[in-house]
Amino acid sequence: MQKTLVILKPDALQRGLIGEITTRFEKKGLKLVANKMAQLDSKTLRDHYSHLADKPFFPTIESFMSSSPVIIQVWEGFEAIEVIRTMCGVTNSRAAAPGTIRGDLSSSYGSNVIHASDSEQSAEEEVKRFFNDKELFSYNKVIEQYSYSDEERDN
Ligand code: UDP
Ligand code: MG
Repeated sequence: MQKTLVILKPDALQRGLIGEITTRFEKKGLKLVANKMAQLDSKTLRDHYSHLADKPFFPTIESFMSSSPVIIQVWEGFEAIEVIRTMCGVTNSRAAAPGTIRGDLSSSYGSNVIHASDSEQSAEEEVKRFFNDKELFSYNKVIEQYSYSDEERDN
């Protein structure tokens, strides 16, 4: 099972989309294993978006991402990293496919409602960036046998 980090960005909080996005992941069969609300500071954002730190639009991302609290979640499931990235759609929401979170719920490049880890390495780093061991939960979900086949669960 993989864990992946999701941030529901300030536009999702302001526009009342937290429930809708969370419901999509729940309905997909993913398991919520960590959840918190936080207002992100400059150091955290510089670490989190270090791959964009030298881009001209970085100050815009920084001020947007710290403009209100965000919801930070960890979801668990088979191939959860790719499953959630696919559900999010491409970065530019105007190009994101209908049916995806960005495609259905936003129309912007920067204000694109959600962040999701893009690889196993980034998922591991990002989960550690925002949660300690005590904040990450391990529990059985009784309906798991209906979310995945026996063969998948045995692997
Ligand atoms: N972003 C932007 N303009 C760009 C590229 C990125 O405003 O040209 C913002 C956008 O909000 C995006 C975030 O920076 O979600 C992180 O960029 P990344 O390339 O990692 O895209 P993502 O992984 O979020 O799809
Ligand atoms: Mg990214």
